[in-house]
Amino acid sequence: MEKKYNPHEYNNAVPCEVCGQLTFVDDYGNSGKCKHCGWRQCVDNKDMDIKQGISYPMLVPLSRAREQYKAGQKFKATFDDFINGLMFYSEMLFWHHGLVHEVYTKMKSQDLEAYVSGDCIVVFCSKEIKQEYNHLNEFRDKANIDGVLLKDLWGEVVHPCFMYCGVEGDYDNPPED
Ligand SMILES: [Zn+2]
Repeated sequence: MEKKYNPHEYNNAVPCEVCGQLTFVDDYGNSGKCKHCGWRQCVDNKDMDIKQGISYPMLVPLSRAREQYKAGQKFKATFDDFINGLMFYSEMLFWHHGLVHEVYTKMKSQDLEAYVSGDCIVVFCSKEIKQEYNHLNEFRDKANIDGVLLKDLWGEVVHPCFMYCGVEGDYDNPPED
């Protein structure tokens, strides 16, 4: 029997946009995990880097991902990347000391412009905490774990990602980066 055409199959050979080694993309230009550097690419990443300061589904913007790769570091979003991702996707996750933490936004009204400018409710929660902020800037400046500001403990944060798509496996265990 002839194999059915599947546009989502990673069967087009291309250079990885981060490490330049051979990787494979589907017919939409999205790749599986690059077996050389672990990056997943998508056709819009150059554009998203400039416009939104992120990439999808990796979150780390492409330009920073290239720097991190060159420096031999793991891909990891900065706190600012994470906030950019939050405004793009509105539901984010990260792990801290093995515990999953969730950040999501809620619109205060139907005013999309206000929302995009950061005038929204930001909820930050885990099994142990629940914090609610009235503006994105307030979240950025005040969100904390046991009194230590999130922006100051970001070095301890593991696998900041978009909810759902950034997670392989179960939420109780941080995915391997
Ligand atoms: Zn690669």
